[in-house]
Amino acid sequence: MFNKKLLPAIFISLLLFAGCSNSQNNISNNNAKIEAKSNHSSNSEETQSAVDDDIEKNTRAIYSISNGVLELDSSFELSEDKIKVHKTLWNKVKSVYPDSVLEKISLLRIISDGKGGTTGAASALDETNSTFEFTLDLDDSFDENNKLTDKDFYHTLIHELFHILSLNDSQLSPADSQSDNSTFVIDEGICNKDSYLNSFFNEFWTNIYPELKKLEDAHDGIMTEAYQDEAYEFYLKYEYQFVTDYAASNAVEDIAESFTMFVMKEAPVDESIKSKKINFFYNYPELVELRETLRNNLEL
Ligand SMILES: [Zn+2]
Repeated sequence: MFNKKLLPAIFISLLLFAGCSNSQNNISNNNAKIEAKSNHSSNSEETQSAVDDDIEKNTRAIYSISNGVLELDSSFELSEDKIKVHKTLWNKVKSVYPDSVLEKISLLRIISDGKGGTTGAASALDETNSTFEFTLDLDDSFDENNKLTDKDFYHTLIHELFHILSLNDSQLSPADSQSDNSTFVIDEGICNKDSYLNSFFNEFWTNIYPELKKLEDAHDGIMTEAYQDEAYEFYLKYEYQFVTDYAASNAVEDIAESFTMFVMKEAPVDESIKSKKINFFYNYPELVELRETLRNNLEL
């Protein structure tokens, strides 16, 4: 996540569209106090922790989830009306996500930072990547008629779902496990050879990744204004490869954005790189099936 205050307008528009965070977090005590631990490849600790601070500051409720049922963390005192709104939101998630994804979510965080900013997040709760915290922003979830039918909200749901699908323990090995350096490595762990992310990276990122990596390293991963300008240049240079501007953030966001287009749109027929990224998912029968499920559930 880039610091939106210093971003050029187009990145701001993008953050309004699909701002997301997927850093790992630790539960530091039984009251589910969340502590930022690490973040994936393209985001600096500094930048990510600023985002996490924002999420923390804008948190309105945290619920633990067992068997799909929400239980409000004891550190929050909320009116029944507010809890009802949060339950409506969670019930929508339950009506859209398949059980195989729902069972990986053990915490729900409700935030409110106005329209735009962070729209949602999905973060593994610890380095095992087996269970996730799921964040939604109230202001970006409900439309002006208080309905959960907005296309941007659907975009967020699909985008975050793919973070859970691509960053869990069936896809990644722990960061401290043995690596033969032959697969893509992110802060969350080492991509398994046949993982979605490793295959996507090999197909679409091997040529451009050194450039982004050089940029990150040159700035020690600290999101200065100069870094943002260069990240923006990187996006402009390769704009033709990305389905949205947010996708240019890094391979993790690129695959989540491309998957979202795969679900929301018909298969493109041209041979552009961005279309190939969307059609990448048709190689996986389980994802084609998931696409159908999501489209049915979202009535797309
Ligand atoms: Zn994301």
